[in-house]
Amino acid sequence: MKKTKIIATIGPASKDEDTLRKMILGGMDVVRLNLTHADHAFCKNIISKIKKLNEELDRHVAILLDTQGPDIRVGTIAKDSAKLTKGDKIRIYKNEVLGDRTKFSLNDPAVVDEVLVGARVLIDDGKVELKVVDKDKGYLLCEVKNEGYIASKKSVNICGSPRVRPFLSEKDIEDIKFANQVDADFLAVSFVSSYDDILEVNDLLISMGNDHIGLIAKIETEKSVQKIDNIIEECDGIMVARGDLGVEMPLEKIPGIQKKIINKCIDKGKVCIVATELLASMEVKIRPTRAEVSDVANAVIDGVDSVMLSGETAMGQYPILAVETMKKIIKTAEANINYTALLEKGKRSEVPDIVGLIAYSVADCSNRLSAKAVMVTTASGTTARKLSRFRPLSPIFALSPNIVTVKSLALHFGVIPILVKELNQFDKITKMAIDVAKERLTLETGDKILITGGYPFKENSPTNFMKIEEI
Ligand code: PGA
Ligand code: MN
Repeated sequence: MKKTKIIATIGPASKDEDTLRKMILGGMDVVRLNLTHADHAFCKNIISKIKKLNEELDRHVAILLDTQGPDIRVGTIAKDSAKLTKGDKIRIYKNEVLGDRTKFSLNDPAVVDEVLVGARVLIDDGKVELKVVDKDKGYLLCEVKNEGYIASKKSVNICGSPRVRPFLSEKDIEDIKFANQVDADFLAVSFVSSYDDILEVNDLLISMGNDHIGLIAKIETEKSVQKIDNIIEECDGIMVARGDLGVEMPLEKIPGIQKKIINKCIDKGKVCIVATELLASMEVKIRPTRAEVSDVANAVIDGVDSVMLSGETAMGQYPILAVETMKKIIKTAEANINYTALLEKGKRSEVPDIVGLIAYSVADCSNRLSAKAVMVTTASGTTARKLSRFRPLSPIFALSPNIVTVKSLALHFGVIPILVKELNQFDKITKMAIDVAKERLTLETGDKILITGGYPFKENSPTNFMKIEEI
């Protein structure tokens, strides 16, 4: 049983029901739909397939919708691409023009107003760099810093200019409304640069009456790295979005930033996702590189909750194999996690209230007794989340009669969420927990399991019991 979760992006390569089924059986816990590329019809189609497969396979694979964010793209280029030479001058016009080697425009004209002289404009994941050397009302004059191509719709990252445009574009607002309408479990918010950006999304969700979607802030700009301590407070989890981060910042800084963010998430008890290029070569090959295997394993050993596949499963030739390979690497790497260190790390940063102390004690006891499972009864998911951050060695089975709670635990390390019928009397809860453990694990006489939760079983009754059962 693996504990680190797998998020897989669904695209043309993985949209068929049979592929999705095999990906679920292969270890996919969460489906990601990237709204930069996937339209609402595509998303609806995948969501209904996942719903059906969840019933068929008795799973709770969750849905994560990922916003486009204030994403900037190259406008249309004549003959689709143009070659630029180092030292050339090129203008970025506010008004739409058909681009060539001397001029082009962007998908959002407002960008031209806010960019400052001296800013760097990185095109196509940083393959071409322009420097803004002058500015006029209708255009930015840039110098080409290296030879390369610009092509229609390629990504544009601008460094050295604060964003003045509102954080949420019309498209993002429509997409967030859509996420609410289809009752997505998680919303990953792209290009967050401050606490206020997350608040803006939160306010919009609240205005729609949605207080349960899990908010994931994507850290993919230099500004967001600087503001991480604020951002982390306002969201349910963080994604280390190495794709865009690696364009905006020197690549060699990414591993250190990733480690720091994983640590901060463990300290704060927030979910941490590491994303992008984890198994990139598997888009076209059946085996990952040694470096990729090390990359996945190191994220797992450092204590990440979830790892994410992007192009590998959305566009690649081997979406199922990519998930299966990821699972294999995770399972092996988990044997190298220093669970004791993570438990103590959790203890140092946990508030010593009753809930925190019980969760710590359960995890500690479970490790010392080599318990086979920790069973948690949970209405809102709080007890399960607390337990997960202490990283017990045994799996955490989270039993809840609330489907929103069950789905909300899909990204958490070590948590296997299970939907149960109503929980009421204490002895019935205990019996149910033992039955589920027996059903899911091969238990032998003398094996121990821990049971914890809040009693009486209500939405806001805090964790207050811990029981050790010997089979
Ligand atoms: P994206 O986000 O795939 O939506 O760009 C992830 C990243 O930038 O790494
Ligand atoms: Mn990105």
